[in-house]
Amino acid sequence: MIPSAFEYLRPTSLAEATRLLARHADEAKVLAGGHSLVPLMKLRLSRPSMLIDIGRLGELRGIHEENGTLVIGACTTHYAAESSALLQQRCPLLAETAAAIGDVQVRNCGTIGGSIAHADPAADWPAAMVALNAQFTLASSKGTRTISASEFFVDMLITAMQSDEILTEIRVPSNPPRTGSAYLKVAQPASGFALTGVAAQVTLGTDHRVQQVTVGITGVSSKAFRASATENALRGQAATAEAITQAAAHAADGVEALDADIHASPEYRLHLARVYTKRALLRAVERAGS
Ligand SMILES: Cc1cc2nc3c(=O)[nH]c(=O)nc-3n(C[C@H](O)[C@H](O)[C@H](O)COP(=O)(O)OP(=O)(O)OC[C@H]3O[C@@H](n4cnc5c(N)ncnc54)[C@H](O)[C@@H]3O)c2cc1C
Repeated sequence: MIPSAFEYLRPTSLAEATRLLARHADEAKVLAGGHSLVPLMKLRLSRPSMLIDIGRLGELRGIHEENGTLVIGACTTHYAAESSALLQQRCPLLAETAAAIGDVQVRNCGTIGGSIAHADPAADWPAAMVALNAQFTLASSKGTRTISASEFFVDMLITAMQSDEILTEIRVPSNPPRTGSAYLKVAQPASGFALTGVAAQVTLGTDHRVQQVTVGITGVSSKAFRASATENALRGQAATAEAITQAAAHAADGVEALDADIHASPEYRLHLARVYTKRALLRAVERAGS
């Protein structure tokens, strides 16, 4: 339970943080809320010899809207997202997802950027990120680049981020009118991590047909994925319970589930994906129409 020795640095700006990371990329790790990294270090599954603490950089915190796009600083805590009036109003899926994470202590310390960068297959944020087509801004000493959520998540705990890059912000479009969303999960009772988490967003036409629908699923396979077959089956259809039930039956088509563990078999995870996709879509449609 005692990590190996490490040097601790706390830069006062993002520019300083990226410079430090460029110089020490092979040995250093970025520290945000510490709720995933520190337990790994205590178990000696991760042994960085240097921590670069970005958790208190004000420029990486906060939520604002820019021309219809919501911009969330990477070091914004889960609690700040959960309680953001802007998110509740302009993209409630994000506030609802944040509220589903762990317990209040975890939500007060953990950050959205830390969760995304960690890419735990059972984390909640990735489902919403792929469902919302989120764009991530990555900064290094060489400049910045933008990458979509679906390109970013590569595999279990593996992302497309380079070792000298810092995730600085998350961008998602704010909701068009007649849009409803829902995040529903089956939580592992001890930690709250998702055995299955489904983020669904639906935009209805004035004729009550499904104009746009996206579904992101976490906890089931090695990375969050879009339920494309469900989306394709539902787009353009009347938003009825029957159409949703039929479409949700395809939520796990072609998906390779995680191996069995003490919590669930692969078959159970796939079953939960289909059941919770149906429930999340029904709730999203209800909210879109109200
Ligand atoms: C008891 C417990 C219960 C939990 N339950 C849940 C749950 O139900 N659902 C859920 O989704 N999560 C859960 N978590 C995880 C929690 O959400 C973490 O906060 C989150 O996974 C990591 O965020 P962090 O800010 O603590 O990151 P850290 O632990 O500081 O960092 C995690 C990793 O990301 C890297 N990193 C951090 N920020 C950046 C950045 N901006 N750019 C580049 N790399 C970065 C670090 O180098 C490290 O490799 C739980 C954690 C605990 C301890």
